[in-house]
Amino acid sequence: MENKEELLFDTVILGAGPAGFSAAIYASRGNLKTALLDINMFGGQPSNYLEIENYPGFSTIKGFELMEKFEEHADNFGVQKFPMVEIQNIDLTKNPKIIETQDIIFKAKSVIISSGAQAKKLGIPGEAEFKGRGVSYCAICDGAFYKDKTVAVIGGGNSALEEAVYLTKFAKKVFIVHRRDELRADKIVQERALNNSKIEFILSSVPIEIRGSNTVEKLVINNINTKEITELDVDGVFPYIGFSPNTNCFNGQIKQTSDGFIETDINMQTSQEGVYAAGDIRNTPLRQVITAAADGAIAACSAVKYIQKNPLSVV
Ligand code: NAP
Repeated sequence: MENKEELLFDTVILGAGPAGFSAAIYASRGNLKTALLDINMFGGQPSNYLEIENYPGFSTIKGFELMEKFEEHADNFGVQKFPMVEIQNIDLTKNPKIIETQDIIFKAKSVIISSGAQAKKLGIPGEAEFKGRGVSYCAICDGAFYKDKTVAVIGGGNSALEEAVYLTKFAKKVFIVHRRDELRADKIVQERALNNSKIEFILSSVPIEIRGSNTVEKLVINNINTKEITELDVDGVFPYIGFSPNTNCFNGQIKQTSDGFIETDINMQTSQEGVYAAGDIRNTPLRQVITAAADGAIAACSAVKYIQKNPLSVV
């Protein structure tokens, strides 16, 4: 830990997506000296969403634009921002809590974890091998590479269907491969995909292998009803099968569900005193920008109350 700058904050927020920005706004307005950290650039998952149509007040807005507005709003209250910092060590059991990064040791009277989730992997042969060579988890980043090509999107949720529709701007054909015969996506999103002539649904089917030479050439799928195995000729595969929580560095220090999401009470309090969780990382029934933002607000208000009740909480 030698030669690292040490900074003390009332609250350190880990993750700058909707939950983190909202927590930063409420914490700063609550007079807490607030730091906002992210391993990546700020904005979180919504920065990759094409259009958001269900955030009240905006009938439609691009994901990155909404996140820019969140960030500007947090800036107005003087939040100290630390993008692109990787946590090397974290101790949430201490008082103050310690978050060590490459250059700085953050000491925090309270911590709000809002580090979100990352794309789940299919875990099939070829997926890792062809990542960046035909396997992509970001249509908005890579879609333009597939002009007049054929791609497969895996999944039946909002992400899969929205990204499939987006990919039709470039690709000549988009397969949507879904493991059930019923889609999970919202009806309005389903309708858009079902009405798109470039999209073909392949239901009750799971991908079992991605094949190719230098780049992806085939997706092998298994029909779970008939057990028939089919090879689809595709140039790209976009798995959109949900997200898993970014909780690696907290493992063992706070209570998590069996699939890794953080358990909280209604005040966003985790099993560790002075530590709160907000947004997609939390065990929650709905993962949306609005619910993440609401979680962040509650978590920050809980942190404000905690610090008021424990003014001598820093030894
Ligand atoms: P999701 O809703 O969890 O859907 C994941 C899909 O992948 C499901 O259809 C699931 O099948 C399938 N799946 C899961 N594991 C699989 C596997 N191993 N192999 C094959 N298929 C698998 O995830 P999401 O679509 O990424 O959405 C996440 C959250 O973000 C949701 O709450 C969604 O509403 C929200 N979202 C919002 C917007 C927006 O507001 N614009 C855009 C995107 C996402 P089953 O259906 O059989 O479980």
